[in-house]
Amino acid sequence: MIVDLTVLFDNYPAEEGFETGWGYSCFIKKDEEGILFDTGADGQKLIKNIQKAEIKSDLISKIVISHAHEDHSGGLKEAVELNSQIEIYVGDSFYNGVKALLPYAKLKKVSSEPLEITEEVYLTGELGEKIKEVSLIINTKEGLIIITGCAHPGVEKIIERATSIVKKNILALLGGLHLMYKNKKEILELISYLKSKNVKYIASSHCTGELARKLFEENFGERFIKAGVGTHLSFKN
Ligand SMILES: [Zn+2]
Ligand SMILES: [Zn+2]
Repeated sequence: MIVDLTVLFDNYPAEEGFETGWGYSCFIKKDEEGILFDTGADGQKLIKNIQKAEIKSDLISKIVISHAHEDHSGGLKEAVELNSQIEIYVGDSFYNGVKALLPYAKLKKVSSEPLEITEEVYLTGELGEKIKEVSLIINTKEGLIIITGCAHPGVEKIIERATSIVKKNILALLGGLHLMYKNKKEILELISYLKSKNVKYIASSHCTGELARKLFEENFGERFIKAGVGTHLSFKN
């Protein structure tokens, strides 16, 4: 089996024909199930990119919203209309806000505890203090794929939680890492941490920041993937 990942919303361009915008969204296809992780800032752009990626809307059975920021949840209203079966996973900290916005949607509350949402796909549970955030983990034969929204709780904290749920090496790290305001020394410290955790591929985009992307490229070489909207990655499951 194959796990397919497609970045559907990002401020970084990658593939021709996709629209960029500040925010993040990634589509996960595992076996015959489709999960949308975050929805970007703009639903119309998101839908256009879903069409461009030729993703059939009835394939999407779940939407996970990482955190309450508009650049991750802004497209939710349009995304939930893709089909009537969609379940939406939202953190406890902003559940009521989503409930008020979408009273008839099938909402699932995510606590601070880990949660398996489908076979071998887990949520970290809400982590962090001020801005609570949920990250997604896919357990594959070769290791864990971790997808973050903005990584507000801190990359280390997310990785510690992920590897406590499934004790494995990390195959790939995707999403926003929120390193825009970090200096070179801080980013290099994170890089040595990531190396100590045997992170194989890094495909971070969105709020990862130019300096971090440059340092990742220098340190991980071809194992750093310059991800952006339209980037498609396939892993054996
Ligand atoms: Zn963000
Ligand atoms: Zn954020």
